[in-house]
Amino acid sequence: MTTGLYADPESARGTLVNQDLLQDAYDAILAAYIPERETPVGVLAAARKAADLADAVWHEAEAEAPAYDCDKGCSWCCHQPAVVTPPEALVLAAWLARERDGHACAALGERLDGHARRAAGLDTAARFADRLPCAFLQDDGACGVYPVRPLQCRAVHSTDAGFCQRLFEEPYTVYPALQDGTLASPFLTLSKVVYTSVQMGLAAVFQERGVACSRLALEPAAAVAVRDPHGTAEHWLAGAGVFDAALWPHGD
Ligand code: SF4
Repeated sequence: MTTGLYADPESARGTLVNQDLLQDAYDAILAAYIPERETPVGVLAAARKAADLADAVWHEAEAEAPAYDCDKGCSWCCHQPAVVTPPEALVLAAWLARERDGHACAALGERLDGHARRAAGLDTAARFADRLPCAFLQDDGACGVYPVRPLQCRAVHSTDAGFCQRLFEEPYTVYPALQDGTLASPFLTLSKVVYTSVQMGLAAVFQERGVACSRLALEPAAAVAVRDPHGTAEHWLAGAGVFDAALWPHGD
């Protein structure tokens, strides 16, 4: 099984992935994809199955996890770059397009393009420092695409919202200390393992069938997909590099 999500899958699997869950997710997502395989409908079915499965596994597991501070309106973490796979970007775009006509989708694509241009080249610390929120973060601090938010957004749970605020306010001090272990991370490993394992299972379903399932930056990927979710999915399945401009530029 190849996931294509990490340049060094072995190192990623050692810390972030449960192999049994990855395999179970692969099997379940493949079963959802197969009836409509190689079609946009199948891609959306696979992405929805991945989100439903990961949420269900996490809801069962979180009883054993430490209590966390996260709640609606707390959005410090929504000021860092967000990563998606193509199926996740496509299901998000299809959800956005459902209530909009073509002109509105094109206008949204323009807005997302502008946001992506501003975010280009900003790593996590720089994005915090720039105070640039996710394009989907609403003024009330809620996620504007909550039902279809990316798997890695669902994965973030913090035991200390005060730490998240410090990370937002002092990124060049706190983020390196977090990365090198000088500061203890308040982010739950368990939820990260759950959502990353399922995300890798989702990617593997497509990788195994010859469709590139690379990591993408959320906003430029959504900018591409929202203009024509169905056509973008068809071209992606056919091997076109429709998401090349959105390839994840960060090593983390
Ligand atoms: S998609 Fe939603 S949860 Fe994810 S970073 Fe954006 S606003 Fe936050």
